[in-house]
Amino acid sequence: MSAESVKVIVRCRPMNEKETSENYEGIVNVLPKRGAIEIQAPTKPPTSREFTYDAVYDSNSNQKDLYDESFKPLVDSVLQGYNGTIFAYGQTGTGKTFTMEGVAKDPDKQGVIPRSFEHIFNHIAQSHDRQYLVRASYLEIYKEQIRDLVSKDPKKRLELKEHSDTGVFVKDLSSFVCKSVVEIEHVMNVGNVNRSTGATNMNEHSSRSHAIFMITVESCDVGQDEENHIVVGKLNLVDLAGSERQTKTGASGERLKEASKINLSLSALGNVISALVDGKNGHVPYRDSKLTRLLQDSLGGNSRTVMVANIGPASYNYEETLTTLRYANRAK
Ligand code: ADP
Ligand code: MG
Repeated sequence: MSAESVKVIVRCRPMNEKETSENYEGIVNVLPKRGAIEIQAPTKPPTSREFTYDAVYDSNSNQKDLYDESFKPLVDSVLQGYNGTIFAYGQTGTGKTFTMEGVAKDPDKQGVIPRSFEHIFNHIAQSHDRQYLVRASYLEIYKEQIRDLVSKDPKKRLELKEHSDTGVFVKDLSSFVCKSVVEIEHVMNVGNVNRSTGATNMNEHSSRSHAIFMITVESCDVGQDEENHIVVGKLNLVDLAGSERQTKTGASGERLKEASKINLSLSALGNVISALVDGKNGHVPYRDSKLTRLLQDSLGGNSRTVMVANIGPASYNYEETLTTLRYANRAK
């Protein structure tokens, strides 16, 4: 596996109103030419550290450039029959959902998911020599339990199963054939509503669960014997749970158990990606979490992966930001 198939990029969001009005110091320096992030530690005198990535994006970066430069090639490879996964990683409030979904009513601020819809259906409209079938599923992993966000019974827990030919799959996961951007957006919207209705506190819920939007693209040459020429590519679009250390806030009992399960999937993911990037040690620990098992056939092998590590610029987030930069750096 070539190192090219896993890319890690870092995106720093702008200061928000509260941070600006309270005059928080910015401690993050984004150096796009070098692909580096410099972070200042609150020591006296200040000390700084630098980490490098495949690409870095500052607070002025726009959604379109990010898509065109860092995600489009991956979606193109899915259209050609390869699997691909895009992860948004980072502390709650750093821009994971902004990166993945964006702002629905503002076309300039559309995130990766709606842009990939446009990209896929534009591509299909322009290819006259191939026929396509697009299907979408939407699920969530919360406390190591899988929930179908677009089924009639979204509260039901689903199981991961393994098939000797087709590999790991979610039993009874619903999938919808989509013929247009409008239809696939509908799947996403229904899932987003189900995601929040089960939760007493939407923000807390979304910060603790992994949301995975899955698109399967099948295609075959027009006029050929279909049986022999079908290629299948899968695209997984993952808005991960917040990476903040939950144990720090004095969690106990049920909360602590939940926290350790969230961290389990994130640390398992870090281990899988770093084993893939490393490439030397043959063992990739996919089996350590639901998330990595589920995505096994889209991580490694011929698949492409892009991880976006999201960070905030302000000084009070120093510890969490440094943790994210280290995680993303190890994944490289
Ligand atoms: P997360 O999903 O990681 O918890 P959000 O995506 O909800 O974080 O982002 C938190 C807030 O910051 C939202 O109001 C979002 O619109 C804003 N935001 C995040 N990233 C950016 C960015 N790159 N540019 C402008 N606003 C952003
Ligand atoms: Mg979010």
